[in-house]
Amino acid sequence: MVGGGLTLSRCRGALKGVGGRVGNMREAIQPFYSSRAWKNCRAEYVKSVGGLCERCRQRGIINAGSKKRPLEVHHKIRLTAANINDPRVTLNWDNLELLCKDCHDEEREKKNVVRRWRCGPDGRLMPPLVGER
Ligand SMILES: [Zn+2]
Repeated sequence: MVGGGLTLSRCRGALKGVGGRVGNMREAIQPFYSSRAWKNCRAEYVKSVGGLCERCRQRGIINAGSKKRPLEVHHKIRLTAANINDPRVTLNWDNLELLCKDCHDEEREKKNVVRRWRCGPDGRLMPPLVGER
C-alpha cells in the first residue's frame, strides 16, 4: 500500500475530468432536441415514412409503435458536440431512420459490438465483426 493514496486521488481527479467532458457533451446536444428546427424536421420525417418502423417494415411487419413504446427517430451518424451545429448531419433525412424501441436497441447493441476489437492468431488486430447475428 505504498503511495496508494496518492495514486488513487490522482485517479479520481482524472475520472472527474472525464465525467465533466461527458456532461458538457450532453449539455451541448440536449438543446438541439428541444429546438423547433428538430421538432419540425422530425415530424416531417415521421410523416414521410408513414409513421412506421422502417426496419420492421423491411421484414414485412407493420409497427407504428404505441404510447408506451413510441417510435424514435434515430440519427445514423451519432450526434456529438462537434457536429451538433451541422444541419447536414442533424436535420438531414438521409441521416434519419424511424425505429421502434426493439430495432433501436438492436442498433445500439450493434454499435457496442463494433467497439469490441480482437486479436488474430498472428497477434495482429482484426477488423471488428459487423452485421453478424
Ligand atoms: Zn422495428
